Amino acid sequence: NIPISKIIKDQFMKGIILRPGQILSMEDTRNIASQYGWEIELIQEDEINPFERLVESYQNAYREGTRLVQRPPVVTVMGHVDHGKTTLLDRIRKAKVAEGEIGGITQSIGAYQVEIRGKKITFIDTPGHEAFTEMRARGAQATDIVVLVVAADDGVMPQTIEAYNHAKTANVPIIVAINKIDKPNANIDLTKQQLASKLGLVPEDWGGDTVTVPVSAKTGKGVEDVLEMILLVSEVADIKCIPQGHARGIIIDSKLDKAMGPLATLVVKDGVLKVGDYVVAGSSAGRVKALINENGKRIKEAHPSDPVQIIGFDEVPDVHSIVYVVDDLDTSRALSQYSKGQLQKEKSVTNRRHVRLEEFLSMTGESNEKKDLKLILKADSFGAVEALKQAMSKLENTDVRIEVVHSGIGSINSSDVMLASASDAVIMGFKVKPDAQARHQADVEGVQIKVYDIIFNLIDDLKKALEGLLEPEE
Ligand code: GDP
Repeated sequence: NIPISKIIKDQFMKGIILRPGQILSMEDTRNIASQYGWEIELIQEDEINPFERLVESYQNAYREGTRLVQRPPVVTVMGHVDHGKTTLLDRIRKAKVAEGEIGGITQSIGAYQVEIRGKKITFIDTPGHEAFTEMRARGAQATDIVVLVVAADDGVMPQTIEAYNHAKTANVPIIVAINKIDKPNANIDLTKQQLASKLGLVPEDWGGDTVTVPVSAKTGKGVEDVLEMILLVSEVADIKCIPQGHARGIIIDSKLDKAMGPLATLVVKDGVLKVGDYVVAGSSAGRVKALINENGKRIKEAHPSDPVQIIGFDEVPDVHSIVYVVDDLDTSRALSQYSKGQLQKEKSVTNRRHVRLEEFLSMTGESNEKKDLKLILKADSFGAVEALKQAMSKLENTDVRIEVVHSGIGSINSSDVMLASASDAVIMGFKVKPDAQARHQADVEGVQIKVYDIIFNLIDDLKKALEGLLEPEE
């Protein structure tokens, strides 16, 4: 928790010049750590997570930046139920795939790619923000841009807000598609007003910086504009990849097929994935027997941002796990074995991976920076949410800040838990409870949920947490 800039500065004051990325001797490391009250323990080589070594080479390439090139954007469509996500995705696919693809659309593999004036866009065709956030909770971000669909006859609704908060915490650019403009009761201005007042998304034509596109997924009007805007936003967002070398990607869909065995769809993030490559994804290993694109065609290789189905895993890999290409079968087996071992270890110890109120102060460590307690707040009424936020803001002081990542009305659901997991937040409920799925998910993710019936108790617990005085639960 000590910023690297501080360490460099402190050492500089002692006459020692360090550079970021420099490798230190064990002795120097011990020395520096002890100045901040820490001891260093040397762990054996075989205790090091072998995946970390794998990740490192990619990270280095990104840090250097010299080998990086632009890649097509990967887009997720989110929004309130029935606002037209599926219709929009179908419309885009039909409009763009039909040409040249005799036989038309085959079965969905979970994502597809379209091309506009020679530029590609990949759409993840399982709409919904839970999948989106679950991916992030696992450290994998597949999405570069979010298209937030809002029906112009219905306006900003609870799941619009939820989806927005998910996209916002992921720091992903948002394009708003104002849908159903063909309907007689569509009200584009009112929708824009709500975007501005409820989400703080001020449309560009109102002087803000939110790209909004009026569209009818039903008639197709405006669909081209959505695609153009995606290309525009992606140019600004500077979406890059390592174009060559061993591929890695994110699994967005997987299943067991009776005839073909385990199937997994991934979106390639870096490198080139080829038939014959040895792969590992969590605890599944294998060799790529075949690659199938979204039109059901067998292809020889897949490039960054391409969605592709892999045949060849020895078991069905987890959705949202990361696939790595490795040198040989032994490496892929060794890595998958390591993952299996880790999974078992995780099951045997109670996993507390996320911040808890009782430990908030000690977990954030001894840095001089302002500490942020992240919360997700659910209550039974809008008034209660507002009252709680008000009361919370009074608890903040120069050392700590309370950040309400998301607030809403209604019971605590699994989407709240996934958001808490991804953003390392505690969930607080006032006069609402988690549903069964959320409770289970919270156990799995190690997310803390605290529920209250009395405002005073909730605020009092928060106050104690900020002072480090809250007693752990039994
Ligand atoms: P999702 O739940 O967000 O995926 O919504 P769907 O795509 O399933 O759409 C919900 C309903 O709205 C369906 O009956 C669609 O036919 C209808 N719908 C979607 N887009 C439009 C549109 O642009 N105009 C009109 N009139 N209806 C639409």
